[in-house]
Amino acid sequence: MLLQELFAAGPASRADLARSSGLTRVTVSDLVAELLVEGLVEELGTPIESRVGKPPTLVGLVADAKHVVAIDLSVDDQVAGAVLTLEGRVVLRDARPREGRIGADAVTLVREFAADLIARSSRPLLGVAVATPGVVTPDGVVLDAPNLGWHDLHLADGLADALDLPVYVANDANTAVMGEFVFGSRGEGGLLLLRLSTGVGAGIVIGGALLHGQGGAAGEIGHVQVDPDGPLCGCGRPGCLETYLAVPRLRRELAEAPAGLADAVLADAGDRLGQALAPVVATLNLGEVVLSGPADLVEPLARIAEQAVRDRVMPVSVQQFVVRTSSLGDDGVLAGATGVVLAGELGVS
Ligand SMILES: [Zn+2]
Repeated sequence: MLLQELFAAGPASRADLARSSGLTRVTVSDLVAELLVEGLVEELGTPIESRVGKPPTLVGLVADAKHVVAIDLSVDDQVAGAVLTLEGRVVLRDARPREGRIGADAVTLVREFAADLIARSSRPLLGVAVATPGVVTPDGVVLDAPNLGWHDLHLADGLADALDLPVYVANDANTAVMGEFVFGSRGEGGLLLLRLSTGVGAGIVIGGALLHGQGGAAGEIGHVQVDPDGPLCGCGRPGCLETYLAVPRLRRELAEAPAGLADAVLADAGDRLGQALAPVVATLNLGEVVLSGPADLVEPLARIAEQAVRDRVMPVSVQQFVVRTSSLGDDGVLAGATGVVLAGELGVS
């Protein structure tokens, strides 16, 4: 509770913490003393505008107290990773080519890359997080990640044994939406993050909690059919949203478009996106949809999709509604992976 308060609201005095937590001052002082010994918080002196009497000492979270190793498998044929502070700031980053490795070979690559980042970290580590495409259970079992050839893979347990650290594995879009929630906008009115990469997936935070869904597949909007006569999708059915919005596909369409018609390609893709989002936005009365992906694509698509949603729902559903791009840019997945470790190890989000 105290870490959560300091994380969300910034430095506070022991008296402030007692008021906000409902704990006694004695209990708060004891807990702060423990956290000081652990190095997770530090004393920051007294605020300038102190009133009469003994001025209170502020305590705050030490962002550099521990680091997190985060790995992102959502970039095509690459294993990207970083060491980050508790505030999601990148301390060092690196990447290795995957060169088509799948199955057990891909697991080995991830394990060796994680071990390398751990060895290069200069601070004690809170844990390791891996963001992967595909359907992942809350305890880190990859049920299905076709691009990586992973099925029913106990990735978190396997890596935790090998690396001797707590390991969290989560879907990349779920990770990105946690990053946006914890380190970005908060999105208290409900937040859906749509990630455009080799595929299309979404992560949803409602009431501050990540939505997993019955089978762990919440947010799999990429294979919703938007045109029964559309192009054939990798899943075997025609006209999935992904066939219009996956980054490689969209880039190819834009390159092949006759001069002056590139805008029409984006307008069509953005409109189909709005068509798929409108029922979700109206049903959940979402406050925000965040697009994560290459800036040159997501910036125009955000504008077009917002209008396309507005055209399809009642005004009352979209009074404060906005479609925007991620405030964390390309580091959203890595920052979000840090958020997953913070939530799991410190109960902070
Ligand atoms: Zn499909």
